[in-house]
Formats: sequence, structure tokens, C-alpha cells
Amino acid sequence: MKILVVEDQPRLGEFLRQGLGERAYTVSLAQTCAQARDALCESSCDAIILDLGLPDGDGLDLLREWRRCGFNEPVLILSARDSVEDRISGLDLGADDYLPKPFSLEELLAHVRCLLRRHSVVKQALIEHRGIRLDLAGHTVRAHGQPVDLTSREFALLELFMQNIGRTLTRDFISDRIWPGLVDTNLLDVYMSRLRAKLEDSSGAPLFRTLRGIGYQMA
Ligand code: CA
Repeated sequence: MKILVVEDQPRLGEFLRQGLGERAYTVSLAQTCAQARDALCESSCDAIILDLGLPDGDGLDLLREWRRCGFNEPVLILSARDSVEDRISGLDLGADDYLPKPFSLEELLAHVRCLLRRHSVVKQALIEHRGIRLDLAGHTVRAHGQPVDLTSREFALLELFMQNIGRTLTRDFISDRIWPGLVDTNLLDVYMSRLRAKLEDSSGAPLFRTLRGIGYQMA
């Protein structure tokens, strides 16, 4: 499980990195909004622990950006700002949980475990978007009511997009997850055209946007 910790106080960041690391989480640490954006572009993560007061901006703005572009992994806000208004705006913007500082490591770990557990249950459920229905538990896909036959790689690719609706996925990001270690980048385009052919409804707007030289986005 990979966790992105966004925390500008170096000592607290290190404390979290160590505490989570000892429980076998892989932790990456970002100290600014800019670093957090970069970290999330470079690789995916299973949860984010987010401080609000950051040197170059407000964690709530980051959260708003992430949710707007479809990032749907759990986010736990960890902040000294614990007024009811702050909590409500955090939750309204799509945070899953809110833990005020100061906190105990054990308490934080319990919150993280709970979030990840809840999220994995959600992940087993159906994902539906624009007439595409992806059943992760049953490993089946229906498009506009009709069953669609996908290979396992096509399924994995579609799942990656449906877990990140509206988010631009770079070619490297996709390739790392679907074909780890493989360098043939044309493979992705071949698979994208297969997915389009199998899923897109000729009358509707395209399901996938091509961002030339960058990657793809599920619209
Ligand atoms: Ca701070």
C-alpha cells in the first residue's frame, strides 16, 4: 500500500514516514503543494494524508483539484485547523476523514486502516460511467446494456481509467501499470483503439480523449 504524506513540518513528516513505514506502508513525502502535485503525477497511491497549512497554498485547494480531476483514493486530512467549519469544508470537498493535530500515531494508523478497508470494499463494487458498467468482483463489462468481451489486459486498462475518470493519465503512468517493464509504447495506442472499438457508442461523444504526446483521459 502506497501512502502520500503531504506535510510541511520536516520532523512531523519524518515521524509519519517512519511510523507508517514500520507498518509496511510505502510512504512518499511531499512538503509543498507543488511537490504533492508532482508526486501524484509521477505515481499512483492508495491513500493520502493531507496537512492543510502548506507553504505554497492550502491543502483544501489540492483536495479540490484532485477530486475534480477524478482522483478517488481516500484522503485523510491531518490538521491543526480543527474548527467545525474547517472539518465541514474538508469533508464537503471530498476528504474521507479528518484527524486534528496533535494526534497519536496509533490513532492515525487506526484511521488509515479503516479508510483503506472501507475503500477496498467500495473497490469491489460496480463502477458505472457513461453507459459502461464495470463489475470488478465478477470481472465483467457491459456497454450500453450489452455484454462486452475484454481480454484481461483490456479489462485492466479500462479499470485504470474508470478508477480515474476525468484525470489525465500519462503514457508512462498507464504503461507502468498495465505492461510493467515493457518499452513498446505503441502497444498502448493499439489497446486504446481496441477499447474504443469495443466500448464507444457510435452516436455518442468519445469516451477517451487523446492528449497527443501526453496520454489519455476518460471523459
Ligand atoms: Ca502545516
